Amino acid sequence: MSDRPDGGQPLLAVRDLRTVFHTERETIRAVDGISFDIRRGETVGLVGESGSGKSVTARSLLGLVDPPGVVEGGEIRFKGEDLTDVGWDDHRGEISIVFQDPSNSLNPVYTVGNQIREALKIHRGLRGEAAVERAVDLLETVGIPDPKRRVDEYPHQLSGGMQQRAVIATALACDPDLLVCDEPTTALDVTIQAQILDLLDDLRTEEGLAVLFITHDMGVIEDATGRVNVMYAGEIVERAPTTTLFEDPKHPYTRALLESIPGSVSVDERLPTIEGEVPTPSEPPSDCRFAPRCPAAFEDCSAVHPELTDVGGHGRDHAAACLLHDDDFATEDDR
Ligand code: ADP
Ligand code: MG
Repeated sequence: MSDRPDGGQPLLAVRDLRTVFHTERETIRAVDGISFDIRRGETVGLVGESGSGKSVTARSLLGLVDPPGVVEGGEIRFKGEDLTDVGWDDHRGEISIVFQDPSNSLNPVYTVGNQIREALKIHRGLRGEAAVERAVDLLETVGIPDPKRRVDEYPHQLSGGMQQRAVIATALACDPDLLVCDEPTTALDVTIQAQILDLLDDLRTEEGLAVLFITHDMGVIEDATGRVNVMYAGEIVERAPTTTLFEDPKHPYTRALLESIPGSVSVDERLPTIEGEVPTPSEPPSDCRFAPRCPAAFEDCSAVHPELTDVGGHGRDHAAACLLHDDDFATEDDR
């Protein structure tokens, strides 16, 4: 028995999630059967190249997939309830999202304070002086200097980094348990990026916030997350604690992503760069979707779909979906 109030269950447990887009020509399987957990107070990464299905995953978690997209299968279990079943209404605000470009998230015709107060009104029922005070508090929490003055400013009066802090303050106004950050620092320069990552880490340790951190950048994953899921063409192909993933990556795709970090040391000389791009899956997987780009691929890789299997040992939570790590297919030589 756990003595924790949540019984030790994860805050969010995604199981076999499938989100598809029914277009006239085909069904795009943007998120194709992914599973992962997020516990309270931890930052979990979701990393992959552009087009791998990260943003569709984020929107799925918030119930924000627009037609012709639809969450077609699986579970999004949040605090024990499957949101695909009970709907998002009872949990609105408990999951907040921060997008890449702060200027798209803030309304240019309202002051920063107005936008935070609107969120406080909707999600917390706070109005008047109490809401103003809370808005100033939130700006202070996210490290905006002189918050009493800034609260009355318009978005264009803030720098990009300060705008993203204001967006995070607005997201926090809902008092979320889970913050989904979809490339939150991609539009910012590296110094500001580091400050935002520090801020998110403070919120995690001080407020127990859980964060799903989405990025295409392995360098950011290393700085920002404790565990990581590597996504490729709608699937999670490797999952591990972040330090394990960096020390001992098992999937050739993960190795290639690590190779692509500027200034990184070569971990596998066969993979200098990743050529080609992520395919758009329209059929159920019958092969390894990375095989056409994989320098380690062998014959079975185009005929067998690799399942996520344990590669950790010693009780480590490390899994990879690659036939190289499946004794039924690969030989020592392949590996
Ligand atoms: P990422 O965030 O990893 O760059 P996305 O989640 O945005 O990737 O997109 C994954 C795939 O989902 C895209 O390659 C695209 O084929 C498909 N997709 C996303 N949005 C739509 C849409 N509105 N209509 C059709 N297909 C879409
Ligand atoms: Mg995206």
